Amino acid sequence: MTDTPLRSALSATILAAALTALPSLAPADGEVNLYSSRHYDTDDRLFSDFEKATGITINRIEGNADELIARIKAEGANSPADILMTVDTSRLTRAKNAGVLQPAESALLEERIPAHLQDAENEWFGFSQRSRILFYSKERMPEPPLTYAELADPKYKGLVCSRSSTNPYTQTLLAAMVEHLGEEGATDWAQGVVDNFARNPKGGDIDQLRAVVSGECDVVISNTYYFARALRKNVKGVTEHVDQIGWVFPDQDGNGAHMNLSGAGLAVNAPNKENAILFLEYLAGDEAQKYFSAGNDEYPAVPGVEMNENIAQLGTFKQDEVSLSAVAENIPTAQKIFNQVGWK
Ligand code: FE
Repeated sequence: MTDTPLRSALSATILAAALTALPSLAPADGEVNLYSSRHYDTDDRLFSDFEKATGITINRIEGNADELIARIKAEGANSPADILMTVDTSRLTRAKNAGVLQPAESALLEERIPAHLQDAENEWFGFSQRSRILFYSKERMPEPPLTYAELADPKYKGLVCSRSSTNPYTQTLLAAMVEHLGEEGATDWAQGVVDNFARNPKGGDIDQLRAVVSGECDVVISNTYYFARALRKNVKGVTEHVDQIGWVFPDQDGNGAHMNLSGAGLAVNAPNKENAILFLEYLAGDEAQKYFSAGNDEYPAVPGVEMNENIAQLGTFKQDEVSLSAVAENIPTAQKIFNQVGWK
């Protein structure tokens, strides 16, 4: 890693700052251009703290992930993009494979972010995590499945609901099953789940939770933060009946519950590379980790950082620590399996 003295000083100070309050750092001129498909109110505070501490201005360009990837590609060597920030390892890997990212060499990121939440070539890093777990009707399903495998058990025929296979969260979950069970095992599992569907896959994660309330589905797959959001504020069709919904972190005696991430990577032609790496390092600090994860009711990526009390209500659990970089390599296989088993 080729640190300038300024960068080394700032990195060290920012890490120190993460442990206490944000300090007044020596201002460094300049800017960083952030292409982001993520927007939460707490992110504003996160960004302004960085600007105050470093004197570096963050210019944000927002859009959906695929648009931003296409834009960086189209802008080519003249792209002003320094950082791409988005959710799901499948999207970050898509960005990597599209050639819009480059390795960010940083001893601090290497140390702070667990290895399984980083790209193998350092082209992206996870900064918060979500778990994809089971939610069920307490009333209609006294014995919910305790593992992903059990979702495919014929005893749950006609009771299971899921999003469609075009959804990245669903693709990454099956890609993780491929990593654990191999292609054949994952195909059998996906076939079993399809055979248990109560309806054709449709809707978002909130719609799956609503279907538990409405009685259309008895057990569904959803990310943790959607349920946590319904606990924190009114989510129509869920919050009013939240007491009816139980949850299971699957595979607690096995691999642990499936995890995915929000993350960011250094853009391939970043004009402000040093500032960009500083910003990524800042996101790995304790204080930034709290804001970044709390903004969407997620889990911090950095071990030991306190989770916000809303998501903490769901309890602690064993997380699957399979490499998400390796899992993302299985996305094409997962897509093939979805087609094979008729998971629409
Ligand atoms: Fe989401």
